[in-house]
Amino acid sequence: MTVTPSSFIKGAASLAAGMGVTIKSFFQPVVTSQYPHEVLTITPRFRGHVMLLANPENPSTNACISCGICLRNCPSGSIKLVEGEKREGEKRKTVTTYILDFTTCSQCGICVESCTTNALGFSGDFNCAGFKREDFLFDLVKEFEKRKKVS
Ligand code: SF4
Ligand code: SF4
Repeated sequence: MTVTPSSFIKGAASLAAGMGVTIKSFFQPVVTSQYPHEVLTITPRFRGHVMLLANPENPSTNACISCGICLRNCPSGSIKLVEGEKREGEKRKTVTTYILDFTTCSQCGICVESCTTNALGFSGDFNCAGFKREDFLFDLVKEFEKRKKVS
């Protein structure tokens, strides 16, 4: 193959253009992160799975009174079970079991909006992973208690 002066110039120009992009990127701020060693802060508007929120009057408990409105309003039938009990000395019911099937949840937010006690919100959990469907059946009461211990 013979290299003509014009093809040589074209090749050199192409190489210089490529190197220009590389050198420019080299001096720009790093935009990638070394996940999972480095985890970026998630935007507050991110919608992870639904979670129970703390009762502002008693932050060690969640605000759910197990009325079941969210369960009845969920268009995907993703809220499988909400159970609660009335404890002695308490005016309201306390939720004991809240099962969310995250495999069918569309994160539409209807449950969050329809909750009368503002007991629901979206978690910032972006890396839910599992090997079977059951891994995404969450008991939100247990999840709340676990979160409380960590914080
Ligand atoms: S976010 Fe929507 S689909 Fe998911 S549990 Fe709530 S109401 Fe159901
Ligand atoms: S999360 Fe809200 S709407 Fe759902 S059962 Fe609890 S109090 Fe009722």
